[in-house]
Amino acid sequence: MNEERQPLVDPVTPTARPWQQPLIARLRAQARQDRLPHALLVEPGSRADSRDFGWRLAQALMCAAQPGDDACGSCDSCRLMAANSHPDFSFVTRERNPKRDGRLNRDISVDQIRQLIHRMTLTGSQQAGRCALIYPAERMNREAANSLLKTLEEPPPGTLMILLSHHPARLPVTIRSRCQHWRVDLPSRDQAEDWLRGQGVDEASIGPALDLAEGDPQQAFQLVDTGFLRMQQDFEDRLQGYLEGRTDAPSLVQQLKDFDSDDWRRLLANRLQRQIREQALAAVDTAGKQRLRQLLDLQARSDRPLQVEETNLNLQLQLEDLLISFKTALHRG
Ligand SMILES: [Zn+2]
Repeated sequence: MNEERQPLVDPVTPTARPWQQPLIARLRAQARQDRLPHALLVEPGSRADSRDFGWRLAQALMCAAQPGDDACGSCDSCRLMAANSHPDFSFVTRERNPKRDGRLNRDISVDQIRQLIHRMTLTGSQQAGRCALIYPAERMNREAANSLLKTLEEPPPGTLMILLSHHPARLPVTIRSRCQHWRVDLPSRDQAEDWLRGQGVDEASIGPALDLAEGDPQQAFQLVDTGFLRMQQDFEDRLQGYLEGRTDAPSLVQQLKDFDSDDWRRLLANRLQRQIREQALAAVDTAGKQRLRQLLDLQARSDRPLQVEETNLNLQLQLEDLLISFKTALHRG
């Protein structure tokens, strides 16, 4: 049953965080009431790797235990999902490329989508039908998206297609218009802090990591886990020493020689942005604050490097997305 399963994809453990649970409960409820659309476009509510959440969604859909807001974890279907071998589940993602030292391919290719469509039209063996997950959906190249579009127009009966995407605006509008759009909201600050505590993040790192990750707890966790937060704090301490006159500019540059120059320029730009934000927001009245906040958020986004390894199509969409947001921010308020 697995002859077409892609060997170039890492194993996944289906997982959902507490703030992702309501969306899973909604999926289960709509499935029970037979009110699910054929295709869902889901935003995971985090910029961190979300394949495990996508798998959890699929598991919750195909779990044989009824009712319940989440997958039971113990039925045959759940066990097959946990073992990465459910015959009615197809997962399409960027694959490792042996010709590029095992790095991930830039795109999801048209061949991958064609294979997926072929698998989806085979007869399902489990009762709950079939499910396909495409993640990150915005990485489908133009040809792949066109190929998927035909299937979205005439979906095989009994199938659910889940397009999981951090950047739905980068998908062609023709694809988006054929999917129901669901979004996971970021948790409250308290909930995010509790979750990070539960992951073993030390108390002193929780606040700064969440600030740096703009409230995204999964990304905050990664910042701690990869050592980026420590680097940022080290940088800020040294910069503070300079601002308070304990060291001069040449010595600071010397101290920072172990930092990658791109890293420390990015850290300095980030610090400047926070300073400008604080001062600008303090200077305007309540009515002006919301609009200013939008513009500052947009400025922060436009400063981030574009995903240059992406296709030209995606680069164009990223720029269009920025321009549309800019116009919206100017006309609001
Ligand atoms: Zn189950």
